[in-house]
Amino acid sequence: MNKIFAANWKMYLNEQESLDFVSKILSNKHLFLSNKVMIFPSHTAISSVKSALQNLSNIQVGMQDCDIEMSGAVTGSNSINSIFVDSCIVGHSERRTIFKEDEKMIKQKLENSLKTVKSTILCIGETLEEKKQDETFKILDKQLSILPSTLNGKKLIIAYEPVWAIGTGLVASNDYIKEVLSYINNAIKSLYSDEILSNINLFYGGSVNESSVESLSTIPLLDGFLVGSASADFKKFENILKKMR
Ligand code: PEP
Repeated sequence: MNKIFAANWKMYLNEQESLDFVSKILSNKHLFLSNKVMIFPSHTAISSVKSALQNLSNIQVGMQDCDIEMSGAVTGSNSINSIFVDSCIVGHSERRTIFKEDEKMIKQKLENSLKTVKSTILCIGETLEEKKQDETFKILDKQLSILPSTLNGKKLIIAYEPVWAIGTGLVASNDYIKEVLSYINNAIKSLYSDEILSNINLFYGGSVNESSVESLSTIPLLDGFLVGSASADFKKFENILKKMR
């Protein structure tokens, strides 16, 4: 199966820079038509990016996060139904650490997203401290404990993103990712029917770049990647996709 590439642009690109990125995509349509790509711009650029990409319908556009509420008096926030998108990321480690989101909040966001959009990316992963304390699986159990009993027929992507690998240049080893993905796979197998499991994908994220992607893509059980900083630089993202040819 072709790997799926989810580009988390975080707060790297403003609206104009996002549009400049999209024009480069449009000039390299071939590469982007032959790969499965999802793009997560800043909320403020989603609408413009969607319009600019309207002729490349294979590229999905999503929100980097959503509110716990569907609507209401929440100044400055955005609910999952505030704009039409294909996907939403919930539980990203930056939301967990910077915005102090706990499992209860992430569960609410996950449920809202699964009710509303085609696919939801749930990010999970341990910090360096937790890894050192040998607590990786305990942390993953806690983060997976919020999975609902049904996915409402929607797609769920579980992105394993060790926090110590995000934005650090450190990439987890293939053996380590393999071990963690099989742990996650066993956990979801005990929860869901085969029909539901066929709607779940497993991703890796954490300093993925053009040098690491080829080797990482040989990992069994891995369906795709969540790419942060390298996805917001057109040349770097293009080189990642080119490695997958
Ligand atoms: C991320 O933030 O999801 C991520 C994987 O970031 P980076 O690729 O920059 O490590």
